[in-house]
Amino acid sequence: MLVVMKRDASREEIDGVVARVGELGLTAIPLPGAERTAIGTFGVAAREAAEQLESMPGVQEIVYVSRPFKLSSREVRADDTVVRVAGVEVGAGRPLVVAAGPCSVETKEQTTATAKAVRGAGATLLRGGAYKPSTSPYSFRGLGESGLRILAEAAHAAGLPVVTEVLTPADVDLVGHFADCLQIGARNMSNFSLLDAVGEQRRPVLLKRGLSATIEEFLLSAEYILAKGNPNVILCERGIRTFEKYTRNTFDVSAIPLLKRLSHLPVLADPSHGTGKWYLVAPVALAAVAAGADGLMIEVHPSPDHALKDGFQSLTFENFASLMRTVPAVAAAIGREVALPAPV
Ligand code: PEP
Ligand code: MN
Repeated sequence: MLVVMKRDASREEIDGVVARVGELGLTAIPLPGAERTAIGTFGVAAREAAEQLESMPGVQEIVYVSRPFKLSSREVRADDTVVRVAGVEVGAGRPLVVAAGPCSVETKEQTTATAKAVRGAGATLLRGGAYKPSTSPYSFRGLGESGLRILAEAAHAAGLPVVTEVLTPADVDLVGHFADCLQIGARNMSNFSLLDAVGEQRRPVLLKRGLSATIEEFLLSAEYILAKGNPNVILCERGIRTFEKYTRNTFDVSAIPLLKRLSHLPVLADPSHGTGKWYLVAPVALAAVAAGADGLMIEVHPSPDHALKDGFQSLTFENFASLMRTVPAVAAAIGREVALPAPV
């Protein structure tokens, strides 16, 4: 349930409700809003608890949240959340952001050249994996810490913030040291101890939809991070498994407006993993923009034929630049702009 405070509720009244919620054996998460504060309460609440809270000074009303996901839902927070990745704002109608870069950090040259090229084409964030989740234990699993160093150097030289994946709770501090945004990959969307761990720190988190996750499961995973106190969650639709074999995944374009209807969190689209075919990336990226995505995540490689991972879905520098020339017109058709990379 949600305790909605009066517009003029004082700090003491808000603190009083938070303390009483704790005494009732529930967890309180204050949710300051533009107009008034609400206090999310989590745990099994008896009806008497609600009645007691309702009669406290400064309380306007008690609202029961019907969705299983609470902090991520629009019922609890009606206004869109803006997540800041270093200086880049994501969500709430802000200009669209584009996170681009290689699937995996392979070498310094490959990463530096890609960072420079994607920035030149208008990307706002650099993506790249140093710790790679892999279906097969024999596939490339990333360079680890040395990959993080290469990525951070390339990002610094290009003047772009970094998004990179973290695979285990034990690596969160290390990856957070090099990254501006921690990515939770599709295979880890239901790794609840990892969700707890990224919830306990303050770096923004880009959470990818699981391979077979429903929208509700996806939002419940976001809920784990929010419930630990980290409000900076960006959702990312990256396609789901279906019976179709011509594509690697089936990109669920309806997930974008649906997530935005159910949740206040920003939504990105990853048409690279969403389709698995380089020639489908641009059209699906444009469809995602038209559907209201707050940004894109695109894999780019200097020589996709030689990529250690996901070359078949990676764009060349030229193809990425060509996509970036097309995005503004589609964004403009729905009243959105595309973010410019920050000045170096
Ligand atoms: C990636 O972004 O390189 C990746 C592994 O994505 P996903 O978790 O969506 O498969
Ligand atoms: Mn990849």
